[in-house]
Amino acid sequence: MRLVFIGPPGAGKGTQAKLLRDHYRIAHISTGDMLRDRIAAGTPTGRKAKPYVESGSLVPDSIIIEMVAERLAEPDCSAGFLFDGFPRTLAQAAALNDALRTIRQELNAVVLLDVQDEELVRRLGSRWTCSNGACNTAYNLISKPPRVTGKCDACGQTLMQREDDKPETIRTRLQKYHQQTAPVVVFYRKNGLVRSVSGMGTVEEIQRSIRAALGA
Ligand code: AMP
Repeated sequence: MRLVFIGPPGAGKGTQAKLLRDHYRIAHISTGDMLRDRIAAGTPTGRKAKPYVESGSLVPDSIIIEMVAERLAEPDCSAGFLFDGFPRTLAQAAALNDALRTIRQELNAVVLLDVQDEELVRRLGSRWTCSNGACNTAYNLISKPPRVTGKCDACGQTLMQREDDKPETIRTRLQKYHQQTAPVVVFYRKNGLVRSVSGMGTVEEIQRSIRAALGA
C-alpha cells in the first residue's frame, strides 16, 4: 500500500497515520517528525530548517525533496509507505511522481482529512507532546488529556507545547496550507486518487472511515 496523507495542521494526520502504519505494516514517513529530529540533533539540514519550522513557514522544497528521496531508498519502504505531511507543494508532488516513476511504483490513494479552520485553531492551541523524542506521544487538553497534568502517560516525561503550536504561528500554518497545499489536492483529484474523509469524531471513528474509504 502506497499512500499520501494530506490535511491541514491539527487535522489528526499523525495519530491516524500511525494507526494505518500498524494496520498495513508500512513505513510511516512524517516530514515534520524528520525535520524536528534533525533540528533537535543540530544536523546541517536541521539548522537550515529550524527558522522555517518555528515560524510556521514551509521549509524550501529542495531540502524536503532530498530528505524524502533518501528516506524512500531505505529498505522498509519496499513493503509500502504512508507519507504524512508530504507533498505540501506542487513542486514536491511532481518530485514524488518522478521518484515513483523511477522505481516503477504508483500511489494507491491520497487520503484528505477534512477539518474546518476554527476547529483546527482550537485543537492546535490545546495540543501538547511528550518531550521525550523517542516517545513523542501527542495529547490534547480537550479531547485526550494526560492522566497527570503536564506528564506523559506512556513514559512519565514532561509534556511540552510545540513552538509552532503557539497561537501566533497557527494562523501562518493554516494560511500556508490554503495557499500552497490546497493546489496539491487539486492535482491529485485530477488523477482520481483523492479519498476525502471527515476529520471530525473520535480517533476510532475517523480510522474506520479512512479504512472504509480505502476499501480495507
Ligand atoms: P507537521 O508536523 O507536518 O505539521 O510539520 C511541521 C512543520 O515542518 C511545518 O509547519 C513546516 O514548517 C515543516 N514541514 C513539514 N513537512 C513539510 C513539507 N513537506 N514541506 C515543507 N515544510 C514542511
